[in-house]
Amino acid sequence: MLDTWTLLIIDDCAADRKIYRRYLLKDPHQSYQILEADCAEEAIDLCQKMRFDVILLDFCLPDMSGLELFDQMQQKIFETSVPVIMLTGRGDEEIAVQAMKRGALDYLVKQHLTQDVLQLTVRNAIKQSCLQAQLYKTQERQRLIATTALRIRQSLNLEQILTTAVAEVQQLLKCDRVMVYQFAPDADGKIVASSVESCRTIELCDRIETRKEAGEQRKERGKLITHSPPCTLPPASLPLLPNPQSPIPYIYELGLCNCVSLKEQFNAKTNLVVPINLSNNGNPTPKLWGLLIAHHNSGERQWQTDDAQMLNEVSVQLAIAIQQAELLAQTQASLAKEKQLNIFKSQIIATVSHEYRTPLTSILAAASTLVKHSQQLDESKQERFLGIIEQKARYMSKLVDNMLLVNQFELEKPKFQPIQLDLLQFFADLIEQERETVGDRHELIFQITGNNQNFWGDRGLLQQIFTNLISNAIKYSPDGGTVEFHLIGKESEVIFYIKDQGIGIPMADQENLFQSFSRGSNVDTIPGTGLGLAIAKACVELHGGDISLSSQVGQGTKVTVSLPKIFPIGQLSLSST
Ligand code: ATP
Ligand code: MG
Repeated sequence: MLDTWTLLIIDDCAADRKIYRRYLLKDPHQSYQILEADCAEEAIDLCQKMRFDVILLDFCLPDMSGLELFDQMQQKIFETSVPVIMLTGRGDEEIAVQAMKRGALDYLVKQHLTQDVLQLTVRNAIKQSCLQAQLYKTQERQRLIATTALRIRQSLNLEQILTTAVAEVQQLLKCDRVMVYQFAPDADGKIVASSVESCRTIELCDRIETRKEAGEQRKERGKLITHSPPCTLPPASLPLLPNPQSPIPYIYELGLCNCVSLKEQFNAKTNLVVPINLSNNGNPTPKLWGLLIAHHNSGERQWQTDDAQMLNEVSVQLAIAIQQAELLAQTQASLAKEKQLNIFKSQIIATVSHEYRTPLTSILAAASTLVKHSQQLDESKQERFLGIIEQKARYMSKLVDNMLLVNQFELEKPKFQPIQLDLLQFFADLIEQERETVGDRHELIFQITGNNQNFWGDRGLLQQIFTNLISNAIKYSPDGGTVEFHLIGKESEVIFYIKDQGIGIPMADQENLFQSFSRGSNVDTIPGTGLGLAIAKACVELHGGDISLSSQVGQGTKVTVSLPKIFPIGQLSLSST
């Protein structure tokens, strides 16, 4: 069926109007609804009441010239220009040229007018006008998208980018809600920005999460995993327009059931979804970061192809902005890490020069005394000097080991190799070894209760934790006393605590003691570098456990460590990388 175009003939000659009408109604390629006006006033009246697809305008009217009427129509009556074809007499082509300069689409000389010429000219004028309208619309759309893109890309802060994007897209599409959904590495995800009802959105997300945890969505989650989105989603150029017959199954097939459940949760009637694809380090397959979703709450407004294209184009701009923000965040993180490492290196240099000087001086003094005066020294004195050399050298060697270990923790995650451990045997060996160094002034009590079976841990790292804690308990109890070591086995974790009756730690110092190079202000001349607790904490964290201390100056200190019997799976995969 042919489209019907509405046409207005403005001519004071009734006979001419009749001819034009007859010619046009005979056009086999086009159908017309034709209205007529015999003067400018009537034409203006009609134009104000309705919109015409094309106007045939006589150059000479009783109340106004055709050119004047044309000007008025262009300026006042229409919001957008209407295709006008001027009708002139022979010898009046000058007027027609002027009209064309002012925007008329074509002109016809009345005396040369035939049926074919009129039909063709009108059809061409309409075609040209449609193309112009399309061009105008495209330009307008590009302008809007460019403005939106500019606003989105003005920031390098991800949260701000997303907030701007949803607000701008809502304006652009004149829809009820726009959301950004971000996929998590396990292909599941959550809403990270919403143009409206942010409280409700977050509340709903929480509800969905809770339901998932409760297993209610197990089936849907299964689908999400089997339909890994990066493989199933079309590239950004193909919008996910809902299938008019069955929009929900269509999106379900793509594994985007969460979007559908969101659509239902928000009572949205229609759902327009486009992917947000980031470029993938030169790889032709983009990386699916998330989805840009638009909702209409009522079914009255349908999505147009134009809407989908606009959403897609914004999604491309959004992807660029996200990528830039992520890049900046990564650069800032590496800079911060670099800065932290520099501070750390300076601390190492400061500590080495400070902590090495004293023992080195003692070693040098003892060694040169032995070299120069060994003849005069009796055996016991010689042994004392050799003892000093050995003790100080051991201290320096331990210092180097600790520095290397802390350095390793700072630069990369150390190897974590858990095995099933017999905790009783492990601690029996450890306590035995510690007893040898304790001496007479300290009493070491070791107590085990509960179920200590099925514990998995890394032997080397556990040794680091407990030798540091026991040596602290002994070192910071210079007047002796009891050092208690308790091991309590529980169903899913083991708890250890080490308690001494030593100098204690001032409250103000307690907060920072797990950071490298931190020491209590009351250590006086007790040697130490402030690395032991930092090492212990890093080892505990690798096991997925916790470490804390409580202490009172002059009363003693209690350090508690809890370790899960079976550590989180994430920890295990980390260790293997
Ligand atoms: P090292 O690196 O040789 O272990 P350090 O013992 O000084 O040196 P940490 O084991 O990290 O370092 O302990 C940090 C600080 O915490 C100590 O300097 C001390 O002030 C305080 N501290 C730790 N354990 C105890 C404890 N049981 N009693 C009192 N103070 C303690
Ligand atoms: Mg220590």
